[in-house]
Amino acid sequence: MTTTSAYPHVQLMINNEWRAARGAAVIPVHNPATGEVIGSVAHATIADLDDALAATAKGFDIWKNTPAVKRSEIMRVAAGLLRERAAGIAELMTLEQGKPLIEAKGEIGMSADIIEWFAEEGRRVYGRIVPPRMANVQQMVLKEPVGPVAAFTPWNFPINQIVRKLCAALTTGCSIIVKAPEETPASPAELIRAFVDAGVPAGVIGLVYGDPAEISNYLIPHPTIRKITFTGSTPVGKQLAALAGKHMKRATMELGGHAPVIVAADANVPHAIKMITAFKFRNAGQVCISPTRFLVDEAVREEFVAGFLAYTEKMKVGSGLDAANTMGPMANARRVTAMQQLTEDAIKRGATVATGGERIGSTGNFFTPTLILDAPLDSDVFNLEPFGPMAALRSVKNLDEAIAEANRLPFGLSAYAFTSSIKNAHQLSAQVQTGMLWINQPAMPWAELPFGGVKDSGYGSEGGPEALDSYLNTKTVAMTSV
Ligand code: NAD
Repeated sequence: MTTTSAYPHVQLMINNEWRAARGAAVIPVHNPATGEVIGSVAHATIADLDDALAATAKGFDIWKNTPAVKRSEIMRVAAGLLRERAAGIAELMTLEQGKPLIEAKGEIGMSADIIEWFAEEGRRVYGRIVPPRMANVQQMVLKEPVGPVAAFTPWNFPINQIVRKLCAALTTGCSIIVKAPEETPASPAELIRAFVDAGVPAGVIGLVYGDPAEISNYLIPHPTIRKITFTGSTPVGKQLAALAGKHMKRATMELGGHAPVIVAADANVPHAIKMITAFKFRNAGQVCISPTRFLVDEAVREEFVAGFLAYTEKMKVGSGLDAANTMGPMANARRVTAMQQLTEDAIKRGATVATGGERIGSTGNFFTPTLILDAPLDSDVFNLEPFGPMAALRSVKNLDEAIAEANRLPFGLSAYAFTSSIKNAHQLSAQVQTGMLWINQPAMPWAELPFGGVKDSGYGSEGGPEALDSYLNTKTVAMTSV
């Protein structure tokens, strides 16, 4: 196996110790820009998982009894370390995931901000006193950490996908085992290192990699684990939610989407283009809230399509390490195949490829920024989440038609709309079935805003005070003085 010196052999972290898996099995890690093997990651065995479970049980006992203010202090130190180390970690992320360095740095900065927000919010987990019906009674509502958490996270935002789960757990007093992505393992390991170096007690955080299905099948039913949280595709989310239900475990599911972008007849089109195009191609479109189904009023379609194409013409696709490039490769080869299949299906059904639709070169997972026009509603691209640098656009006659199409799919994660009228904005807010609606702007999912979907996009929230609720049990205590 060849490796680059810049990229590590990533280890498991159990009980604040970095170590190889028992049996020393590893999984190779590839650079998506070149296809080369750049390093490896430890492949946990069941015995490693048992170690992590024993550690997390002990870690929970320590952490739940650590004052919230102390937990907050440690989390803030971790955020500071992450910021200090951002340049080196960003390089690892670009090497393993492909995104341009500037985006990797942005992800790390955003993650530090999320850690700081959660560190503060955990200091405000209040119970309450409920007025009693008799004079000698006191009634209290207590909030308690739910217990050790198992988190399963994907490769598209290797750090950011972990940080919301990790912070909600830590700030409420839960311990957590993170099953991080095997395809992009080094940058998540650096996130965890920042917490270990910041002084999180042994056992509070565990980090494992391996066979995702084997790990989730073992951890979810295990009596030590009290809550699970998953980000990934809807089919896998449904399997894990079913397993959690069977074992009566709390669950948060952040799953797929197929975000509509409604451009009304009264939209400020130049503004819409500016807001949505760069955002569409961020992380090569491998974003659960990526805008994908463009529903453009026929009155402004020509102007919108021209503006969109003018933007894609200026894009530069290539290695994320080269600052001149605005879009990197996709993170894995199966996304290239998926883009090719979506394009072929659309063409077969009569759509026009206005730009892109092709793989670039034969090395690395590069694909052209793509705009598909007039694919029919039963085409794959209008039904399956593209999860790549692909936008599909259809004309609509009015807002009612656009909203009906937006709501047609079982997904409901993120939606976008451009309009100049309050009347339209009000109708959109009331009628679009979605967890998040962004009007005249791209998504800005700050830590203080709830983040999550409805319908097949999952349940639970990973932002705002709601994010803490799902890591807390509510206990009623009533006492009568005798
Ligand atoms: P996938 O469904 O095979 O895997 C998605 C993620 O889930 C990966 O991180 C994988 O390791 C994990 N996973 C798979 N099976 C698992 C199991 N049994 N237990 C625990 N974890 C498991 O899909 P993929 O090819 O990696 O990604 C493509 C699709 O996944 C996309 O179309 C998109 O819908 C979805 N996805 C969504 C997000 C998101 O941010 N919501 C992120 C990544 C992928």
